[in-house]
Amino acid sequence: MAAPAPIQLFDPVSSTYTYVVFDEASRDAIIIDPVDTQLERDLGVLKQHGLNLCYVMETHAHADHITSSAALIEYTGAVVATPLFCNVTPAAIQLQDGDVLSFGRERIEALHTSGHTAGSMSFVWRDHVFTGDTLLIGGCGRTDFQSGSAEALYDSITLILFKLPDHTTVWPAHDYKGQTSSTIGIERHSNPRLVDENGERRSKESFVSLMSALNLPKPRLIDLAVPANMILGLHHDAGANDMTIDTIQPAAGYAGDISPELAHQWMISGKATLVDIRSHAERAWVGFVPDAPGIEWKMWPGMMVNPNFDAELKAAVPSGAAVMLLCRSGVRSIAAAKQAHSLGYVAYNILEGFEGDPDGEAHRGQKGGWRYRGLPWRQN
Ligand code: FE
Repeated sequence: MAAPAPIQLFDPVSSTYTYVVFDEASRDAIIIDPVDTQLERDLGVLKQHGLNLCYVMETHAHADHITSSAALIEYTGAVVATPLFCNVTPAAIQLQDGDVLSFGRERIEALHTSGHTAGSMSFVWRDHVFTGDTLLIGGCGRTDFQSGSAEALYDSITLILFKLPDHTTVWPAHDYKGQTSSTIGIERHSNPRLVDENGERRSKESFVSLMSALNLPKPRLIDLAVPANMILGLHHDAGANDMTIDTIQPAAGYAGDISPELAHQWMISGKATLVDIRSHAERAWVGFVPDAPGIEWKMWPGMMVNPNFDAELKAAVPSGAAVMLLCRSGVRSIAAAKQAHSLGYVAYNILEGFEGDPDGEAHRGQKGGWRYRGLPWRQN
């Protein structure tokens, strides 16, 4: 059966292509290289097509945009898969060369195509290849930072990608000229980085000297984007280890982001009410914070905002009081904090969510640091 074509989505700020591929029958889907500022769009596409997101895949740790992968797993329950040698340690699946992920009856294979970065991968699905920044339309990714190597890129393109059948559709991570796709045959015969003026394949030496003469400016966002992408786009998590307990980070639209430690202190002292905005199902499965009212923000199925959120919050906490919003990882709770702020509460977002470490007893990265802490169990 013919599969639906990949859905190609474009972010005009970073010129990044994001792809959604799905199994027609089961509606199981994957998304490749999502961009943080396009989260709402991407959730909308998934919903519009009735898709269940199984995997968020990254071709590499990007330097030009921040991924939305953490937010996507928060909203959809998908699992993140990143290339092993990109060292994105929070990703649940560390892809190695030849690994295959299944979604419904579809399969996608990861090929290690290093060069743009040491960890970069391309993903092959049926007769399509998602090439990341390894092979672009009439071009290729730069190799002058992030452990890039022009020699390795030459080998990855000529010995791995150009060995795919000529009719294979090439879907790159970027295009700056409005081109959308190409084929292996076209790139093999006419990509000017690999083919010279006489139509001959360039030697590796010629390719390397061409790449080293590019003199490209440093990407505008690299110092921000790469560290953020190493933790799946959780930008506010970056300094969490060093945060002193009385630090509050200012935020737009709510009172601020607070550390798990400070939130724990305020909960114990009664200075603010902790409101658990995860779904009832998450609380039942993963655990809950004793004495914290549970007021859902997003509801399953369909990830709809709970239409009774305002009324339930008002019933649980007097207006004008200080509230601290807790979700699983500290993403959904930002939106909930903004909503609580608009209702007149002094609303804080708790960094790292339920997975944070409120009292220094959870090992860093251990899930459910807020579970069973200090206070007797009470179902709520
Ligand atoms: Fe890149």
